[in-house]
Amino acid sequence: MSERFTSDQLLAGRRLFSAPSKFIMGVAKLEQLPPAQGAEIAVAGRSNVGKSSLINALTGVRGLARASNTPGRTRELNFFSVDGRLTLVDMPGYGFAKASGKDVKAWQAMMRGYLRGRANLMRVFVLVDARHGIMAGDAEMFDLLDEAAVTFQIVLTKIDKLKPSELEQVLADTQAAVGKRAAAFPGIHATSSEKFLGMEELRAEIAGLL
Ligand code: GDP
Repeated sequence: MSERFTSDQLLAGRRLFSAPSKFIMGVAKLEQLPPAQGAEIAVAGRSNVGKSSLINALTGVRGLARASNTPGRTRELNFFSVDGRLTLVDMPGYGFAKASGKDVKAWQAMMRGYLRGRANLMRVFVLVDARHGIMAGDAEMFDLLDEAAVTFQIVLTKIDKLKPSELEQVLADTQAAVGKRAAAFPGIHATSSEKFLGMEELRAEIAGLL
């Protein structure tokens, strides 16, 4: 989808992510949320969707999002500063087969509280594994976002695993599934963190929010 972005927009994206992003804090309880100031975006997705890899590729900081994958941190909202101009929030992965009902409830309460109350949250990028497309847990996430009236945009991950025809199919299916959602922002990003595909465009999209 590079045709959607001008060279100026791509340059703005590159600039935004040229300085190393920094970890600010992990938040396990809503009371610990940092003050809502400046522009904020969040990244969400099922566990194993490639969220850490994408954050690392996007920011160019190897291992930046590792904190969120270490035991005890997987249930936290992790806050990062991008060039001191933007806060990027790594939301806890969902869709754990092993999670208990109580854990799921706690997760939902935390997500709902964060999404509803965050006035400076400009957009949530929901990552979807291009090999699997939208799954049950994603639909629940979309429900939360619709309910909180937070705009979200789909980012397909791991597209290096797909043939061009398969990618076209998943793009069409995903578009059809989210097109009906009130909070869905048009345009799907197709990315591979491993091959650095679609990353410049995603950077441009984020820079365009500032
Ligand atoms: P998270 O649980 O969502 O943070 O997912 P990770 O970033 O830890 O990635 C989960 C798995 O997917 C790891 O084995 C990664 O190496 C793999 N992965 C992540 N991004 C890509 C990608 O762009 N292409 C491929 N082929 N594998 C990827």
